[in-house]
Amino acid sequence: MRAYIGLGSNLADPVEQVKTAISHLQQLPDSELIAWSSLYASPPMGPQDQPDYINAVVEVKTTLTALQLLDALQAIEQQQGRIRNRHWGERTLDLDVLLYGQEVIDDARLQIPHPGLALRAFVLYPLAEIKPDLTVPNLGQIQQLLQNCPQDSLRKLEKIVL
Ligand code: ATP
Ligand code: CA
Ligand code: CA
Repeated sequence: MRAYIGLGSNLADPVEQVKTAISHLQQLPDSELIAWSSLYASPPMGPQDQPDYINAVVEVKTTLTALQLLDALQAIEQQQGRIRNRHWGERTLDLDVLLYGQEVIDDARLQIPHPGLALRAFVLYPLAEIKPDLTVPNLGQIQQLLQNCPQDSLRKLEKIVL
């Protein structure tokens, strides 16, 4: 299965957090890292009294189930010191399963496609960078989604060298 994972960090050297997370994602069991986007910088969602975010999106090829993948991502969040505080508050690392093949999943722990996907420039632009011809289940062509989601303050930064 091809899965797409969204990364975000706004604490404790966010660029390093995202780079470290991508190297952890390279080590995921039963999986292969296929592609990764440039880094992006974006203003926070939700509470505005927190630093800007660094974001990226990666593509992995995996034989993990979607829930196994979520477990593995949550373990990496924990490893990188994630503390759960206020809703949409600051964090060292957030890893979201954006897509899992063309599957639509509505589980108590896991909704796929990720519900914020079409509304968030910091998800759509890096996703389109690595997969410009993507079709999103229930939502359609990514190029169409981009047209309905202004880039606004999202800034593209460097592409990481692994
Ligand atoms: P948002 O989901 O709006 O981006 P968030 O990332 O800040 O907000 P978290 O606190 O990281 O939210 O996660 C809350 C819960 O969301 C997780 O415990 C997880 O079970 C659930 N969840 C549902 N769908 C997904 C998904 N596609 N990827 C990651 N977590 C998900
Ligand atoms: Ca998130
Ligand atoms: Ca999350």
